[in-house]
Amino acid sequence: MTSSLSWIRRRLDRIGLSLSVLCAVHCVGTLVLVAGLGIGGSFLLNPAIHRVGLIMAMVIVGVAIGAGALRHRQPAPFAIAIMGLAFMGAGMAAPREGEEAVLTIIGVSLVACAHVLNVRHLHRLHHA
Ligand SMILES: [Zn+2]
Repeated sequence: MTSSLSWIRRRLDRIGLSLSVLCAVHCVGTLVLVAGLGIGGSFLLNPAIHRVGLIMAMVIVGVAIGAGALRHRQPAPFAIAIMGLAFMGAGMAAPREGEEAVLTIIGVSLVACAHVLNVRHLHRLHHA
């Protein structure tokens, strides 16, 4: 029971990390395309992408990092993740497209760091 739960949690950290990296690539790509070439804005900057992404990130952070924090008792990953989610939320509220991408990149980077830290703390717990 416990081991299958931690298996799922470890998977979630990996999924959360992959999604964060994907979104960072998406945001950087969007910035380059829109700022450099002036194309693709309406499609790539579809706000639905980040709205869905933020909801997924919140759920994955809550389950993987929230539950992880309860086990390894290190508050740092959760605090970093919450900051990241706040930046992602601020990005969505940003009035301009470039600002949205920059804020979102900061946000997903923080969320990615939080997942890495969470995995590391859990790993240490396993081998303690
Ligand atoms: Zn993105």
